[in-house]
Amino acid sequence: MKRTCLRISLSLAVFTASLIPVPLLAQEARSPVAPRRDVVEAVVREAYEKFKNDTSGKNADYIPYLAQVNSKLFGVALVTTDDQVLTVGDVNYSFSIQSISKVFTLALAMEELGPDNVFHRIGSEPTGRPFNSVPAVVDIPTHTGNPLVNAGAIATTSLISGKDEDERWNKILAFYGKVVGDKLSLIEDVYKSEAATNAGNKALAMLLAKYDRIYADPFESVDIYTKQCSVGVNALQLARMGATLANNGVNPTTGQQVIKREDVPYILSTMTMAGLYDGSGGWAWHVGLPAKSGVGGGIVAIAPGKGAIAVFAPPLDEAGNSVKAQEVIEYVARKLNYNLFSPSSVGLK
Ligand code: GLN
Repeated sequence: MKRTCLRISLSLAVFTASLIPVPLLAQEARSPVAPRRDVVEAVVREAYEKFKNDTSGKNADYIPYLAQVNSKLFGVALVTTDDQVLTVGDVNYSFSIQSISKVFTLALAMEELGPDNVFHRIGSEPTGRPFNSVPAVVDIPTHTGNPLVNAGAIATTSLISGKDEDERWNKILAFYGKVVGDKLSLIEDVYKSEAATNAGNKALAMLLAKYDRIYADPFESVDIYTKQCSVGVNALQLARMGATLANNGVNPTTGQQVIKREDVPYILSTMTMAGLYDGSGGWAWHVGLPAKSGVGGGIVAIAPGKGAIAVFAPPLDEAGNSVKAQEVIEYVARKLNYNLFSPSSVGLK
């Protein structure tokens, strides 16, 4: 009986070898729910074609560098928990990770302090305000709000330990690299452009200092935060970072446990509530997946246990979220029945 099953699986593996890089048996061993490449491929291509000519939205321009990025760039990458990779379009272009970095600094802060300490020092309430809101810091009882708005993110960065600024920054960069399974670096021109224009973030940090809600030197924390936002990633690397979260903190390519499995639900719930700022409620309603956007034009969405999809397209909506990235992810998530809040996403008829 056992042998027959094995033979069927093996012949299936041979039959599908051209479509699936990882043998079927290995896939079954590693993830019972990861989607099959042939199933997702058509849907991702359809989404790419359907939205590629949408010119709505506008590049971020409050960071001068971002205004000059080619608005037509468009890349989609999907990485499953068993390391199948699917890419379409400009997936090798390196763009600044921006606010998506906040997710991974949060993961590192939890690694160092434990989730309870992070929760008490930062909070997790959605603000319903723009990501860089000053009034939110005054009005919201925790002041920091949550780790994914600028104020909470700068405070989260301030939690990372180190003997000096360089050590703290290098620790963050190295951690992001482990999450991707690749070496990452700063895009110097983005950093310079943002560092020259980030008076707003400095104001947020000083306001947090007034409320005792920042845990290291405010300006040094803003500087490290600005560097983390200027880290370059391409769409494929971003999808790999997301797939690590989808895979319980284990990078599907390197097999390394880089984020503690017990921290993953805290990260994903925070992303669900605040990953798209004041667009988060609409996103949860329509898509039902934890996701994080950045003003560089990237969005990564996580289908827990299954994989992650990352899209890069610079034009943004009013809330600062990439228009085409939202369209593609919504389309793919709907077609593949990924919505976490839908019992049918785990097979219930
Ligand atoms: N570095 C950007 C800022 O601080 C990040 C904002 C974003 O991506 N939403 O404004």
